[in-house]
Amino acid sequence: MSNIYLDYNATSPVRPEVLEVMLPFYREQFGNPSSVHWAGRQVSGALEKAREQVAALFNDSPAEIVFVSCGSEGDNMAIKGTLDALKEKGNHIITTSIEHPAVLETCQYLEKQGYDVTYLPVDRDGMLDLDDLEAAITEKTVLISVMWANNETGNIYPIEQIGRIARKYNIRFHTDAVQAVGKIPVDVQKANVDLLVISGHKIGAPKGVGALYVRRGTRMSALMHGGHQERNRRAGTQNVAGIVGLGKACELALAELDEYYDRVRALRDRLEDGVLSQVPDIKLNGTPDREKRLPNTLNVSFAYIEGESLLLNLDMFGIAASSGSACTSGSLEPSHVMGAMCVEVTLAHSSTRFSLGPETTESEIDKVLEVLPATVQRLRDMSPLYNCGRTAEGCETCETVRRI
Ligand SMILES: *Cc1c(COP(=O)(O)O)cnc(C)c1O
Repeated sequence: MSNIYLDYNATSPVRPEVLEVMLPFYREQFGNPSSVHWAGRQVSGALEKAREQVAALFNDSPAEIVFVSCGSEGDNMAIKGTLDALKEKGNHIITTSIEHPAVLETCQYLEKQGYDVTYLPVDRDGMLDLDDLEAAITEKTVLISVMWANNETGNIYPIEQIGRIARKYNIRFHTDAVQAVGKIPVDVQKANVDLLVISGHKIGAPKGVGALYVRRGTRMSALMHGGHQERNRRAGTQNVAGIVGLGKACELALAELDEYYDRVRALRDRLEDGVLSQVPDIKLNGTPDREKRLPNTLNVSFAYIEGESLLLNLDMFGIAASSGSACTSGSLEPSHVMGAMCVEVTLAHSSTRFSLGPETTESEIDKVLEVLPATVQRLRDMSPLYNCGRTAEGCETCETVRRI
């Protein structure tokens, strides 16, 4: 049986059109983009073209794009660079409790360096209350960092409204848009975003490349020192082939956005409707309002079973899904996102994410719907938690389980 990949929020395959435009930069077009001779010029032209393609995806002007090695680097640079440049102005950051670790752990590091961080809470659906945001602002607040869309639940945050609040108080606004670009419309001008991060490998470009948009005039210290690449924002010879691939992936994503949304949304809805109607005792994680969720993401908890064992059992059928975020799987701690949403611990442990992509087909979804309900039932039949729920109180197994 052929494999079914439903883990696009973790990474995506490089698109053939993307690989095609990259190859010459591993062969004849090998120059250093900083060189003045023909070999350098060939390549620097390609970088500038990629800058335009990337910028167009979120309605930016190309001069404001800094190429980086990944989404995590972009987030680190935006946050640490801004705080360092504005340290005379203040030392307070506002972010949320559901950010990707690239933001969350950067903020935790800064706290150790003496910065103040407010982590905004979310409700049970994982959504923010913007009154909390306004209430958290102080004279010392220099940066607000809120992700455009969450990688685990797919929840989309009200970035335009947050941008208005940031502007009203003259606070810089950073957003991790790694999961949003290519899936929903993203416009830095409309949303008044100052700093925005994307990652290549989430949108059909290779791993090891990303981009940071920096609004013109935004002060930001560099993290990497050395050469004068990227207008002094980031030292180091650029990953030319990766950047060319990122440009192409952005061009394709923009051209195909409407078609992608409709197609993937229909498949995700088919999966969501199927799972919700065929599997009892489950909880949808994230907002039930599908308009406010990424079109490709479904996160559900299956009561009485472990997410990890479900993943392994689905894997036996060639189905790749994910529990929590890719970065936290392998650890026994349930995801911080489920924790922030107050999802009960055992349900948090069974949280399972299905994330679809442009290559996903209807027959793949139907295959999952054929396999999943029976697999869940089989695991439940083996689960003491499940069986105890059906026996009289005082069951010994149940007590044992409770004590653990
Ligand atoms: C994947 C991801 C990142 C990290 O991107 P890398 O390129 O893997 O470093 C950051 N934020 C979000 C929301 C992500 O999904």
